[in-house]
Amino acid sequence: MLKAERYRHFVDYFSTHQPDAQTELHYGNPFQLLIAVILSAQCTDKRINQVTPAIFKDFPTPESLAAATPEQIFEYIRSVSYPNNKSKHLVGMAKMLVDVFHGEVPPDISELQKLPGVGRKTANVIASVVYEAPAMAVDTHVFRVANRIGLVNNAKTPLAVEKQLVEFLPKDTLRFAHHWLILHGRYICLARNPKCEVCPISWFCRYYERTHTEAALKRAEAVKAKKAKEQAKKKKLDAITKELKKRSVDKDI
Ligand code: SF4
Repeated sequence: MLKAERYRHFVDYFSTHQPDAQTELHYGNPFQLLIAVILSAQCTDKRINQVTPAIFKDFPTPESLAAATPEQIFEYIRSVSYPNNKSKHLVGMAKMLVDVFHGEVPPDISELQKLPGVGRKTANVIASVVYEAPAMAVDTHVFRVANRIGLVNNAKTPLAVEKQLVEFLPKDTLRFAHHWLILHGRYICLARNPKCEVCPISWFCRYYERTHTEAALKRAEAVKAKKAKEQAKKKKLDAITKELKKRSVDKDI
């Protein structure tokens, strides 16, 4: 299947079945989303949603978070991955929002990346979710699923995946496509055992095509038969060698 066709099927399927896919992180405003996304690095959304309500309640504004110490924040996020770094990042981020950005979350991706704890992925999430910018944040799910489906070719880094997706996806679908890929990766196209048998998009997935189609199954069977033949040959040779050894021992006696 041509890449352009895969893209067409991908957009058709998900815009029909998940037209307004959204982040599973809970938040009430851009500042809260920024906190949640910074915390979510290398951690599950479920865990983040358990710790953020208390932070949002006790530190409702950039000013209140900027006045806190990392040690204070650590107590709220000790169950999250990398709590030491993340507590420093949250306080640093809030201070910069107050000092440089008048307490507002900036819409610009390069300005967002100046904030402590905010890398390209986080900046893209904020830009696309909050400001509806045509940006594509590539996390581990997006990276894996885009490669498996065949939306990208030889994309070895998140940036390479981002560039190809941005180039080929229609601009107005980009902010949804990010969530389509994440949710599909989270619930169906799992990292270790993708649920290909129940996957509704297997018919245009490159990974499925390579591993489950008739030709692929035939190839796998041929490899299996060749292996069995080689094993039988080895077994026969071993038996002959054993017999010859036995005869030579008998002769010596
Ligand atoms: S068919 Fe399998 S590899 Fe392809 S998208 Fe579905 S779950 Fe992932």
